[in-house]
Amino acid sequence: MLNLRNISRAVVVGGGTSGWFAALALRRMFAPSTEVRVIESPAIGIAGLGEGGLLNLLDALRRNGIDLTEFVQETGAAFKLGVSYEGWRTGAEDDHYYHLFGRPGLQETDWMEAGFHPLISGMVHEGIELHRYVPGFAAIAGNASQRDALAMLRLGASSGLSASFHFDSHRLGDYLRRVAVSRGVVHQQARVDELLCDEQGMARAVRLEGVEEPLALGLLIDASGFARLGIGGKLGVRWRSFSEHLLLDGVVPFRMPHPQPNPSLVTRAIAMPSGWMWQMPLVERVGGGYVFSSAHADEAQAIYEIHRRVGPGVEPMRALKFEPGHFEQVWVGNVMALGLASGFVDPLESSLLGQMLEQLRNFERIVTAGGGVVPGRVIEGFNEANARCWSGIRDFLRMHYDGPRRDTAFWRDFADLPPPPGYAELRQCFQRRTPRPIDLQNYAIHGWQGIFHALNWLFVAAPLGVVPRKAAAAELQGLPSASRARVAAYITRMRELGAAGDFSSKGDRSA
Ligand SMILES: Cc1cc2nc3c(=O)[nH]c(=O)nc-3n(C[C@H](O)[C@H](O)[C@H](O)COP(=O)(O)OP(=O)(O)OC[C@H]3O[C@@H](n4cnc5c(N)ncnc54)[C@H](O)[C@@H]3O)c2cc1C
Repeated sequence: MLNLRNISRAVVVGGGTSGWFAALALRRMFAPSTEVRVIESPAIGIAGLGEGGLLNLLDALRRNGIDLTEFVQETGAAFKLGVSYEGWRTGAEDDHYYHLFGRPGLQETDWMEAGFHPLISGMVHEGIELHRYVPGFAAIAGNASQRDALAMLRLGASSGLSASFHFDSHRLGDYLRRVAVSRGVVHQQARVDELLCDEQGMARAVRLEGVEEPLALGLLIDASGFARLGIGGKLGVRWRSFSEHLLLDGVVPFRMPHPQPNPSLVTRAIAMPSGWMWQMPLVERVGGGYVFSSAHADEAQAIYEIHRRVGPGVEPMRALKFEPGHFEQVWVGNVMALGLASGFVDPLESSLLGQMLEQLRNFERIVTAGGGVVPGRVIEGFNEANARCWSGIRDFLRMHYDGPRRDTAFWRDFADLPPPPGYAELRQCFQRRTPRPIDLQNYAIHGWQGIFHALNWLFVAAPLGVVPRKAAAAELQGLPSASRARVAAYITRMRELGAAGDFSSKGDRSA
């Protein structure tokens, strides 16, 4: 059992996005008599590379009472409406598909029967690209300005889109710090040298560089980034590696100017010979990076390929190596690791901030619901749910590499890599029908909400051909005739709407 009632101090080690979001949550969770203190070392600094959020970023901002207009002004944020996948099937110039942030609950396509969305299955069956059913897609394709995008999003349901943000993570951290300090969080700049635990393994204090007296604490959030001081360091929890299933393990980040008049409304994910390149458009610049497999390219090769793709003027930043995975337990006693201190995977789909916010939301939910007293079994369940959440991210990412590309050793080797068992089974299901909510329920247990939902899986599985057109046809066959007629009428309408456009799904192997 963990008793957090009447603790006099909660310490967060780390002043990155994870640390400041944690501090805001702790300040809400505990009475003013409990000090919430963030200790961060400016000499170490933050990783500073995460610049794209998921939809739960907006929930977190709302939960913390942060005004969205102020957030945009203070962080240089630009709208993110999804991801554009370029070159993931044929590698050709016009090989694009989109994973858009749809707006569930209000669209005609939300109609659900027999566990699936018949209108969406109808589109998959007909080879109609899914992004084309989203009315707001025209704004993305037309490189609409931020102001026009805002006007479109205010239309709500009729745009069919929801938004998250691209943001400068340094400015985000600074902004969250100002908000947290204004709410009473104590900010200390110092280096933590050591975490001190008692015989039961409970954290009792941290020793700071140059300070003799250790700083006592009752709860520690380890948001120390790649330093991984607590769970990975002092407490020595085992790492659960995903490198058997995900090949990417190196990054060369860079910055570049906007290639278009307005910041793109989607993250660009561009397939490369040994991995992929992100381009995240903020208001003032684009943040980029080449994520590569070190078994297929070294840093010099990655830089060469960056220059070939975006021009010789681009200055690469410090390269980074990583092992994809996470700690098996992230909450041990009165220590919880969060953000990069708890795990890291290929940043495709920007899952990391999303995972961090979902983990923090559940930590807050459990501690609050327990009145500050938490049974050990609930903490075990939390760790299990967290691991499942990571498994869902791993499996979703693995599917992205299941397309038809075989033109370099990287793409061939990835195709041959054994899929994780959970995903291997889902892939078999998708040969027979489209992804459904029921498929994903094991990734979100004990009150967790999934990071990626059936529609997210569909947006990627259909264009890659992981869901063949005949699989959608098979499930439509099982519907009553009135429902099939409704699907047929919708498809006719879509075809009429798209008469001037090309609705065919490029690269669909199953056509
Ligand atoms: C290449 C790359 C791409 C990414 N892309 C995305 C993306 O698109 N979307 C997304 O959501 N996320 C992405 N991320 C993840 C994202 O960067 C992080 O989730 C986010 O920035 C939060 O980081 P953090 O706060 O956990 O760690 P950091 O920002 O690294 O902060 C760590 C903090 O710990 C402090 N610290 C460390 N050691 C000590 C010590 N001994 N004493 C005191 N303080 C210490 C540091 O000073 C710092 O303040 C990406 C990450 C990388 C590396």
